[in-house]
Formats: sequence, C-alpha cells, structure tokens
Amino acid sequence: MSAVAALKAARAAGVHLGIDGDDLVLEAASAPPAAVLDALSRHKAEVAALLRPGQDGWAAEDWQVFFEERAGIVEFDGKRPRGEAEAQAFACCVVEWLNRNPELSPSGQCLSCGGGDHAHDPLLPYGVEPTHAWLHSRCWPAWYEVRKAKAASTLTAMGIVAPVVRPMTREEQPSYPSSDATRESRSAKNQFAFQRQMNGG
Ligand SMILES: [Zn+2]
Repeated sequence: MSAVAALKAARAAGVHLGIDGDDLVLEAASAPPAAVLDALSRHKAEVAALLRPGQDGWAAEDWQVFFEERAGIVEFDGKRPRGEAEAQAFACCVVEWLNRNPELSPSGQCLSCGGGDHAHDPLLPYGVEPTHAWLHSRCWPAWYEVRKAKAASTLTAMGIVAPVVRPMTREEQPSYPSSDATRESRSAKNQFAFQRQMNGG
C-alpha cells in the first residue's frame, strides 16, 4: 500500500489525520482496522508530508475536500453520474492549482520561447490578476498543456485522481465520505474516542 493509498484507507475508515510537528496524529470515533494503522505506521513520514500544506497553502487534505465538494455539487445538484462528477471535479482542481501556482514571466519576454514583444507578434497576458504570464498567442497552447499536465501530476501524487469516465456498476462506485461528513468530523474533533500520535521519523 502506498502512502496515498494508506491515507485514503484511513479516511475511508473514518480516521481524521493531522500533523503535530513531525508526528502524525490520528483521531477516530472507534479504533481503525489494524491494517490501516499498520499502513499509516509504515508510511508515516510520507503521509505527514501529504498532510503538510504545499507552497500554495493547501495540503493534500485540502485538495481532497475541494475535490469532494465539487464532485458533490455536480453529482447531487447537477444530477450527473459519479464518474462524470469526479472528472469535472478534477478539472476544477486543475484550474484551482494553476491559479494558486502561477508562473510569472520577466517583463517583455515570452515565458515559452523567450522572445520579445513585436507589433506583428505581441505578448499577451495569461492568468488571474494580478499575476500574469506573458506569452505569444502561438506559444500559449503548448505552454498551457505542459502546465495542465504538471497540475494533474501534482494532484495525482496527492491522491486526487481523475477517473476514467465509463458506466460503473454499483459495487464499483467508491464510497467517499461526503463533504458534509468531512466538515462534521472536523467540528466534532474533540469527541473522537480514538486518538493516537505516531512519532515522526
Ligand atoms: Zn513565444
């Protein structure tokens, strides 16, 4: 089991995970299965890394909550199949990641080819204000594909996965906790009966 899989298994078992320095802190309403504890123990340093906020201020946990909220909106409000809802949610995560991790270009220079601003080939601003990347319009598509691929691989490494959209049988559908349940478990943090601190290292 990978660190991401261990984290998912722990969440599925109703475990709330946090970090305290280098230590992994587990809280749950009842003792989680031994296999989950074992996997977390084996990967505690990597799991702690997943729970630590990245440069953009969001940890894997935050991305998971964002993903679940978006998927829930599409699935329940939009009445779309779960697979399609998750695919749309993943696309939202990619856009959010791009906005939170902007690339800036030196003024007067194309971020992709390094060329300058010309009357026949002007540099255009891309991105959310106030952080722009300047690119030639012909350079933008390839640059944007690379950026999107980077966003997708970063999200995937944190356990946010774009599903292959196809009809799913009921048994195949993953049973993620709803975003409401996540919020509830956070607010009910102090009521957990099970608590364990795993030493970092
Ligand atoms: Zn260019």
